[in-house]
Amino acid sequence: MIDLKDLSQNLDEILNYEPSDAPVISLYLGVDAARITKQEYTTVLNSIITSEKAKLEASSIYKASQKKGIYEMMDAIKVYINDYFRPESAKTILLFAKEGKISSIVRLPFNLKSKIIIDPKPHTQILRAILGSITKYGILVIDREKAQIILMSMGEIKQYLDAFISEVPPKVNYRSQLAFKEKNLLSRIEEKLHHFFKIINEKTLIHLREGKFDNIILAGRKDIVSQFSNYLHSFIQQKNIGNIAGEPSDLPHVIRDRAKELIDRHELSLKNKIIGQLIDNYCPQELGVLGVQAAIGALMLEQVRTLIYNNEFSAPGYVCSECGYITLDKEDPCPYCSHHLTFYNDITGEIVETAIKQGCEIVDAQSNERLAENGNIGAILRFKIEAV
Ligand SMILES: [Zn+2]
Repeated sequence: MIDLKDLSQNLDEILNYEPSDAPVISLYLGVDAARITKQEYTTVLNSIITSEKAKLEASSIYKASQKKGIYEMMDAIKVYINDYFRPESAKTILLFAKEGKISSIVRLPFNLKSKIIIDPKPHTQILRAILGSITKYGILVIDREKAQIILMSMGEIKQYLDAFISEVPPKVNYRSQLAFKEKNLLSRIEEKLHHFFKIINEKTLIHLREGKFDNIILAGRKDIVSQFSNYLHSFIQQKNIGNIAGEPSDLPHVIRDRAKELIDRHELSLKNKIIGQLIDNYCPQELGVLGVQAAIGALMLEQVRTLIYNNEFSAPGYVCSECGYITLDKEDPCPYCSHHLTFYNDITGEIVETAIKQGCEIVDAQSNERLAENGNIGAILRFKIEAV
């Protein structure tokens, strides 16, 4: 029986892992519901496990007892994916197993190629690159007495960043007793609120400047959010992508779901905008390419700044397992290293992974019509190639 609580993401542990004698399995599995059915991805999983087992059998890197442990973990992974796993919004999952059991699962927002890697430590190169490029959202949930900042990225709540409780402000030195007496009860409450809102604004600004999050969402009752908005530093205002209803006492998943709706809308409009720029501005300036052939060509020249693709994009092609060369046409052997090229029914994962390793920004669009009319994939370039 697998305890699902054990599988919660523990990124720090993965990223700071100390290598040991115990082999760690890192599994990438494409599970994007828009591209692949459960039956298909379980078939992919079985086939990569079978071929990895054959390689292990033939190899003498591991002792018999270590091999046995690896096979047990592979069986546990199969059971988990078959019986317990739901893809939800994940495109690819990155699953780690060690010491006989699955240790964690990270849901990745990009389509990557499915594969298994067995090493003395978790495979984290792609994960690090993705984490560095993911937009982090701070959700500031606020009422008149309490407030908190929740961090959200990749569709999930990651942590509680900060919490605030309204306190009676320090004594104000009124110019006269008369002026003090004129202040009625209501104004004292207002003064407390004024003090509270000012502190939240200051602390939020510090977090934003320290890069704890990139964008901010305000959550609260409409009247409170609108009153608080007057306190917001202009830098925070610029980073505010919208507001949602909420109370500090709301359950985390309620806040997450409302924020996710807003984030999805925000990201969709950004993606549509960048696709428009690619087609209308970058391509005419020769700083953009459209179509799979041109996109691969630019990628192979390490010319790509932003890779943009529609979720429906898929293309068969050939990949060199030695140097990573990708081509649509059958060329054998590889023109760069003379290694054998392998045929793939879909090379999307290879393309995206190559782009991530080159530090490109990845934009995965959903059924963008303009992009679909232009080959479903394209790239904004870092530089032009001058004709020789
Ligand atoms: Zn090659």
